Amino acid sequence: MQILQNISLKAYNTFGMDVHADYYTAITQPEQLAAITADASLPAKRFVLGGGSNVLLTQSLHGLVLHNKIKGIEKIKEDDEHIWVSVGAGEVWHDFVMYAIANHWAGIENLALIPGTVGAAPIQNIGAYGVEVKDAIDCVTGWHWDMKQLLPFYNDECAFGYRDSIFKHQLKDKVFITSVTFRLNKKPKYNTSYGAIEQELQKMGVTEPTIAAIADAVIAIRSSKLPNPREIGNAGSFFKNPTIPATQYETLKETFPTIPSYPAGEETVKVPAGWLIEQCGWKGFRAGDVGVHEKQALVLVNYGNATGGAVWDLSDNIVKTVHDKFHITLEREVQVW
Ligand SMILES: Cc1cc2nc3c(=O)[nH]c(=O)nc-3n(C[C@H](O)[C@H](O)[C@H](O)COP(=O)(O)OP(=O)(O)OC[C@H]3O[C@@H](n4cnc5c(N)ncnc54)[C@H](O)[C@@H]3O)c2cc1C
Repeated sequence: MQILQNISLKAYNTFGMDVHADYYTAITQPEQLAAITADASLPAKRFVLGGGSNVLLTQSLHGLVLHNKIKGIEKIKEDDEHIWVSVGAGEVWHDFVMYAIANHWAGIENLALIPGTVGAAPIQNIGAYGVEVKDAIDCVTGWHWDMKQLLPFYNDECAFGYRDSIFKHQLKDKVFITSVTFRLNKKPKYNTSYGAIEQELQKMGVTEPTIAAIADAVIAIRSSKLPNPREIGNAGSFFKNPTIPATQYETLKETFPTIPSYPAGEETVKVPAGWLIEQCGWKGFRAGDVGVHEKQALVLVNYGNATGGAVWDLSDNIVKTVHDKFHITLEREVQVW
């Protein structure tokens, strides 16, 4: 295992922030984690990095960056309805979605083209187009730094919620996820009701959906709406969609009759953060190299040489103006380091 020093992370985060890590190593085997735990000469502060598509790097990282590169896909078992597949946490998420589709395994096709690694998918319970990854996860396996062993975390132990899981709370910084076991469906249950999937399928001339056609539709919609991080630095949705009490929503509706909402429980509703941000006039805003994307107000962008600090300050101003106007506090979805 090679430990490198003073390494630029610019190529390893989709915002393209040029900060340095004091120490850096690539993890290709779970066994390396035991060796790192036992090596007292290495920094105690560790940062686990996957595809870097959900992090905002605001400063140099004083510690050891562990870049997850654990690969491998293994079929575990199957029955008439399902197949269980264990996937190395360093596999690219979209590649795994395409692999599943090629094998006619259903359940994650709506999550095509989400950037990042398989190992990060459970952390914020990635979701898109009416599907969340939690519904396809059987078990998450990870190296527990304090217990010094690999442990399984079964689905019902992961406290999955909207862009949330136990790995963001009790187990934050305590576990390096090494693999995820998925339970995928042999008989697909199509989910085409969300967003523009049905319209896109029609445009494609598809009358009988297949999981491959749904993934193609999702890819087409996402490519037309979201900025490609290879072209403009970004980390997708910067904020979560806030959940507010239904009573607050009704009051807001009196002043803002067009405020949209989605059902979220019996006495709460979810409001699209992008709409709130747009109403505050931020859509398309640019100051130097930092800005709010012109097509999607939920996405903050780095047009070139913005610093993480400048993106953070912009996000702070957005939080303030949205709070002043709507009395709603936006929560950042992106992990800030
Ligand atoms: C253009 C764009 C579109 C996006 N669209 C969506 C979307 O539709 N839905 C959605 O949910 N997300 C979306 N995202 C966010 C992002 O793709 C996901 O959150 C993704 O799962 C992050 O994966 P990653 O490997 O890049 O994680 P990283 O950014 O590397 O890490 C994110 C966090 O997870 C931790 N982490 C990563 N890997 C591990 C591991 N193996 N063990 C322990 N901790 C780990 C890191 O320490 C960090 O705290 C989008 C991002 C972009 C840039």
